[in-house]
This record gives sequence, structure tokens and C-alpha cells, in this order.
Amino acid sequence: MTEQTSALITGANKGIGYEIAAGLGALGWAVGVGARDEERREAAVVKLRAAGADAFGVPLDVTDDASAAAAAALIEEHAGRLDVLINNAGITGGMPQTPTTVDLRTVFVAVETNVFGVIRVTNAMLPLLRRSASPRIVNMSSTVGSLTLQSTPGAETGPIAAAYSPSKTFLNAVTVQYAKELHDTNILINAACPGYVATDLNGFRGHRTPEQGAAIAIRLATLPNDGPTGGFFDDAGIVPW
Ligand code: NAP
Repeated sequence: MTEQTSALITGANKGIGYEIAAGLGALGWAVGVGARDEERREAAVVKLRAAGADAFGVPLDVTDDASAAAAAALIEEHAGRLDVLINNAGITGGMPQTPTTVDLRTVFVAVETNVFGVIRVTNAMLPLLRRSASPRIVNMSSTVGSLTLQSTPGAETGPIAAAYSPSKTFLNAVTVQYAKELHDTNILINAACPGYVATDLNGFRGHRTPEQGAAIAIRLATLPNDGPTGGFFDDAGIVPW
């Protein structure tokens, strides 16, 4: 088995995921670029390699069981184990999402990717993560998933969104359940908020760069063995659930 630290980043062909891959690649890690579209995936791998990263493509659609299983098999062959999983792939499901008029399909597709996708990929990768000396899992959430902030008058919580925001609340809740089950292992699992980042997800309206958004995921991916688990963090520290 290789000594090199390995990571899989889902949705790494663009946006925040790409910058997480670039940041972990700059540490000398082998970075698996999880992406569903072959052309976009290979373009990202070529760009990361040109920047000096040891990047490899991992075909992965997080909504597909067979794809997640094939991704695990590919990583096992490539690295023998997985040290860090970043569940970054995410979608809004499309706007508007006012709860009184929302199409249930919109809610379903957001949860399918943002929650079921995370559970599916995490469970597919767990056997490989268990082989690592310091496994880390980072779930890309959002402060729009914070019920505390959503119910705080005047807090900055984005547009009314009956699919996207609750999908991140659901993801936060799932993160806590994983942490509870894994508390007596060496696996640290945390949720992260990247801030409001200019990407395709929001029509590039965010005020932060993807590189800035990647920083919290990189920090949680490189936590020391006595680092936190079952928490929710952004650059400023703890985010209230
Ligand atoms: P983005 O630029 O739209 O990137 C999303 C990534 O997810 C893309 O690589 C996309 O791949 C991938 N993806 C979507 N569905 C997928 C699937 N079924 N299988 C595999 N990959 C899939 O958005 P981003 O802003 O970087 O978002 C990254 C994460 O940060 C998301 O979880 C998002 O909710 C979270 N976040 C973002 C912000 C923000 O302000 N941007 C704020 C808070 C949280 P394709 O290219 O194939 O579509």
C-alpha cells in the first residue's frame, strides 16, 4: 500500500470541489477527481496535473449505486485505501423553491444528490477509509441548512428554498448520526460551510472565490487525530446547527 495520502473529492471538476482538489494536491496528496461527465472530469485532471498535483479521474455519479461501487473499486486499485473523503457534489435542485408552490420533484432531486448521494458514497468508501491511520470525512453543507440561523431574525440565510436549505439541514443531521456511530473509531466526520462563493451553483453571485470556499474543507481534511468530530464549521469557527 502506498505511503502517499489519498483523497476523493466528489464534484471536483469545477467550483469549490476543484479548488479542494488543487489545495490537497498542493500538499503532495493523490487526489481523486470525482465527476460524472468524462470530458469535464478529464479537463480538470489535466489542469490539476499541469499545476503539479498527482490527480486521477474517478468516474462518479453520486446518485448511482453502481457508480459509487465502481469508484471504490478504482480507488482500491489505485491507492489501496482512502484517507480523506470530501462529499462536495451538490445541487440546488432549481429555483424558485417557495414551499407553498414547490414541485415535489425539485425537493426530491436536491435530497437525492445532497443527502442520499453523501450516504451512498460514504458507505461505499468506508471500507477503504477504515484502512487509513487518520481517516477524515468532510460533508459540504451550508449555513442555509442551519435551523438556528434560519430562525434568527435578520440573519443572512439566502432565499426561501424548500428543497436546497432543508437538504443541507438533513445532511447536517446525517453527519451527526455518522459521528455518533463512528465515535469509537479513528474516523473524524464534520460538516463544512464554504461561505457565499461565486460558482455555477448561484450564477456566480457569491462574493468569495472558490479557493476561499475550499479552505474550510482543507482544514477539516487535515485535522489532527484529536480534532473534532460531529461538528459544523466555517472559516470563522463553529456554525450553530
Ligand atoms: P458547482 O460549481 O455547481 O459544483 C457542483 C459540483 O457538483 C459539480 O462538479 C457538479 O458536477 C457536481 N455534481 C452535481 N451533481 C452530481 C452528481 N449527481 N454526481 C457527481 N457530481 C455531481 O457548485 P459549488 O458552489 O462549487 O458547490 C460545491 C458544494 O458547496 C455543494 O455541495 C454546495 O451545496 C456547497 N455550497 C456552495 C455554496 C456557494 O456559495 N457556492 C455555499 C454553501 C455550500 P457537474 O459539472 O457534472 O454538474
